[in-house]
Amino acid sequence: MVSAVEEAATRCVTLPPSPVLKASLKRSLPPPMSLVMTDGLPDEISLDNLKAVLPTSKNGESGATNGNVKYGDSHGAVKSNKNFVLGRDMHGSSFKITEPDHDDEVTGEKDAYMASVLARYRKSLTEKSKYHLGYPYNLDFDYGALSQLQHFSINNLGDPFIESNYGVHSRQFEVGVLDWFARLWELEKDEYWGYITNCGTEGNLHGILVGREVLPDGILYASRDSHYSVFKAARMYRMEAVKVDTLLSGEIDCVDLERKLTEGKDKPAILNVNIGTTVKGAVDDLDLILKVLERVGYTEDRFYIHVDGALFGLMMPFVKKGTWDLRYIRKKSLSGEVHEAPKVTFKKPIGSVSVSGHKFIGCPMPCGVQFTRMKHINSLSRNVEYLASRDATIMGSRNGHAPIFLWYTLNRKGYRGFQKDVQRCLRNAHYLKERLREAKIGVMLNELSSTVVFERPLDEAFILKWQLACQGKIAHAVVMPSVTVEKLDNFVEELIEVRKRSFPEGNVKIPCIVEEVGVQNCACSLHRGAGTIPLPKGEKRVSACVQNGNSINRASH
Ligand SMILES: *Cc1c(COP(=O)(O)O)cnc(C)c1O
Repeated sequence: MVSAVEEAATRCVTLPPSPVLKASLKRSLPPPMSLVMTDGLPDEISLDNLKAVLPTSKNGESGATNGNVKYGDSHGAVKSNKNFVLGRDMHGSSFKITEPDHDDEVTGEKDAYMASVLARYRKSLTEKSKYHLGYPYNLDFDYGALSQLQHFSINNLGDPFIESNYGVHSRQFEVGVLDWFARLWELEKDEYWGYITNCGTEGNLHGILVGREVLPDGILYASRDSHYSVFKAARMYRMEAVKVDTLLSGEIDCVDLERKLTEGKDKPAILNVNIGTTVKGAVDDLDLILKVLERVGYTEDRFYIHVDGALFGLMMPFVKKGTWDLRYIRKKSLSGEVHEAPKVTFKKPIGSVSVSGHKFIGCPMPCGVQFTRMKHINSLSRNVEYLASRDATIMGSRNGHAPIFLWYTLNRKGYRGFQKDVQRCLRNAHYLKERLREAKIGVMLNELSSTVVFERPLDEAFILKWQLACQGKIAHAVVMPSVTVEKLDNFVEELIEVRKRSFPEGNVKIPCIVEEVGVQNCACSLHRGAGTIPLPKGEKRVSACVQNGNSINRASH
């Protein structure tokens, strides 16, 4: 009996894709537009499943309307920019649901089977967590104390500030957490409104909706490098949206913004401002954007700013001043003068801020915080009698466990704990950058970021193993508190190894990524040695590229 269970578990857990499926995955799929088709797709791939993963928008924002889209095959080579590879189809490795046999209770076979699946799953989670670098998730936490609450169906449906008649909620924790954010973003208790969302995306959907309700005929302005959820919001709400160019760093190009704001001046402006873009970790210059608005002639009643701070919005406030980290909070403005990074605060005319809770903070379940002004929320809320509360959120039911996890971490770490974490992340990100430079790999790290952008590795298996997020010719690693120097060392050594193996006889041909990261960061034969970024006073220059094949010095601090 045991062996049957074992065998069943093995079958389900490590089942490779069937030969038919495997073959079909290699076949390229037609462009999204012609998805409604009658042949060419094997039965195993459901049409719905495909639609769910097929990208819809133009390159850049996680999708392409043209070019073939393929499922990844774990060793497939990377195709050109527009031909990107989707992840493996999950049908080949899903855990099947089987109906209980009439005698399951007697034999316990089903229990044993499920226990075995879970045990193996747990093992694979441990393994995957070990090699995780591509997503900004802090996997370093210990929430053992909260396991006692797992048995409760905690749900905060409705408005956080108005108790509903569903009693199993955690509003005490939720409001406590929101008050903490009110202090962080400098808004009085009776002037703010917010809630714990299911993710950063929900925060963006909410923030932009508030903007739309406040300025119903407003045009949405967002940089090309904004998260896909921003443009999704525009589609959902049928808003006019204007895409603004970005600088090489990924930061919004305020010259282009000014031009576009001037063109759209007849209508109010709803702006999405990024504090840390998804791919390059770029921070839009809030202060400069405000200046541009003023210059073009938008008064405060004619614009609404939503700040998307999913990742770095929670790191920037903790960048410690007065240490060597100081240079990270300085940035050069267009005119060349150095000033401090623009602070996110409701003392400035912003309408809302959202962050993710499972990124830097490390909540083990997706969640986020959306925060706005009390005066704005009334325009979109409705009282709901059967809740005895108010509907002002995007979702109905809301995860009541998430606020408790956030409350727990904020209490545990506090300001100082976050400062330490942020400092370590920035230092380690810098370390990674230098190690990659040493290895003659094109690399870029924005001053205000722990997202290290580099040449996309050619080896798909390596990308999968380290769970790297890739876009076009670049990949990135996000250095979170759970990323140690040791992990980075392993990563770099392995990368160097697989890079060599990707070329005949190990003659590495360094790809040119000058369009993605700029001349000072590209390591290709044409651009190496061209680095010219001025560093703050007293800082020794670390050559961006390799001069005549000489190796590079380590960072001097
Ligand atoms: C991750 C991210 C989001 C979305 O957050 P989720 O919690 O994954 O929904 C939005 N904006 C930016 C800039 C992000 O990096």
